[in-house]
Amino acid sequence: MLFFSLLLEVIWILAAEGGQQHWTYEGERTAPRAPAAPLPPGPLHLPSAGEFPSASAPAPPRSGPPGPKFTWRTPSPSSDRPAPYVPMGPRKPGVSSVSLCPHGQDHWPASHPECGSNAQSPIDIQTDSVTFDPELPALQLQGYDQPSTEPLDLHNNGHTVQLSLPPTMYLEGLPRKYVAAQLHLHWGETGSLGGSEHQINGEATAAELHIVHYDSDSYDSLSEAAPKPQGLAVLGILIEVGEAKNPVYEHILSHLHEIRHKDQKTSVPPFNVGELLPPQLNQFFRYNGSLTTPPCYQSVLWTVFNRRAQISMGQLEELQETLFSTEEEPSKLLVRNYRAPQPLNQRTVFASFIQVGSLYTTGEMLSLGVGILVGCLCLLLAVYFIARKIRKKRLGNRKTVVFTSAQTTEA
Ligand SMILES: [Zn+2]
Repeated sequence: MLFFSLLLEVIWILAAEGGQQHWTYEGERTAPRAPAAPLPPGPLHLPSAGEFPSASAPAPPRSGPPGPKFTWRTPSPSSDRPAPYVPMGPRKPGVSSVSLCPHGQDHWPASHPECGSNAQSPIDIQTDSVTFDPELPALQLQGYDQPSTEPLDLHNNGHTVQLSLPPTMYLEGLPRKYVAAQLHLHWGETGSLGGSEHQINGEATAAELHIVHYDSDSYDSLSEAAPKPQGLAVLGILIEVGEAKNPVYEHILSHLHEIRHKDQKTSVPPFNVGELLPPQLNQFFRYNGSLTTPPCYQSVLWTVFNRRAQISMGQLEELQETLFSTEEEPSKLLVRNYRAPQPLNQRTVFASFIQVGSLYTTGEMLSLGVGILVGCLCLLLAVYFIARKIRKKRLGNRKTVVFTSAQTTEA
C-alpha cells in the first residue's frame, strides 16, 4: 500500500509540474544484474552411432565458436564418506576377491592399465559445465515392465548384489540396440549416506543402481561387447534416503538374507524393473566412460539420471548390513563398494535438459525478488523527495514574485 500511495503522490507531483521537468541522477543499480544468457556452445552436437567420441580416445575439439569451458574440479570428499575399499584383481582361486586393499584404487592401474586411462568412470558431474543437447533422443525402456515369466537370479558375487536380466529388456534412443544383462548396486558403509559412485556437483547419494546393457546389434554377449568401444550402455540411478519404504526395491532387498555370503544365489520372482528408476527419465546426463571396477574397460556409454530414486533408511541399512564379501567365517561385511570419481579430462558431458536451478536457487530467487522490490521502493522515495523539494522551491519563488508586485502597486 505504501508503495502505491507513494507512486500516486509522485505521479500527482509530476502532473502538477506540467510534466515539463525531469530529473536525472547518478547512482548504482539497486538490484543485482541478471546474468547474461549463456552463449550457445557453437553448432549443436547431434550424437549418433559414430559421433560420440571414441571411448578409448579423448573427445575431439568442437567446431564453431568456443563453448562452455569444461573444467575438472576435484570433488570435495563428503564428511561421512570414507575412502572405499575395493575389489582387487586378478583373482586367485580360493582367495576372496574383495579385501581391505592397503593401497586403494590408486594401484588398480598396476595390474589393469586401462584403470589409469583418461576416460574413466565414475565422474563428478558439474552441472555448470555440461553441454545441453536438445537433440539427445529420449531414452525408452522396452520390456522393463514385464521382464520375464521366469524367475530372475540374484547373486552375491563378493563385490555387489547382482540381478540377472533377460534380453527381452532393451533400450531404445541410443546409437544401437542395447539389451539388458544385469543390474547391481553400490553403497557405503553402515550409517553412511555417501555410497554412490557418480556425484552431481560434488554430492554423493546414499547408493547407486547400475543397469548394464550391451550392444546386441554388434555383439553376441556381454563379455564379447565389454572391451569394445561403446560396447556397453549403463544406466546410473542415484538413490537417496526418503521417508517411505520403496516397495519395488523390496523385490531385491527382501532376498538379501538368502545370499549373505559370497557366491550364494537365489531366485527372485519377476517384477517391473522399470519402477526401480526415478519417475522422470527425460532429464539425464550422457558421457563416455568405463567400467568402475577392474579391468575398467573404457567401453561404456553412460546415462546418469538427474532425478533420484528413494528408499527408506531401513532399506539402506538392510543393504549395508546384510551381505558379506567372503564365503565363510570370519566374514567381512560387503560395504563401500564404490569407486571414487575420476578426472573428466577432455570429455564432454551432455545433458538432455537445461539446468534452470543452476542459475538461481529458490533462496536466491527470493532474495532477488525482495532486492528488486526494495530497490524500486528506494528509487521511488528518492524521486518523491526530489519532486517535493523542487515543488516547494517553485512555490517559494511564486510567493516572492507576488509580494514584490504588491509593493510596487502601493508605491
Ligand atoms: Zn556398477
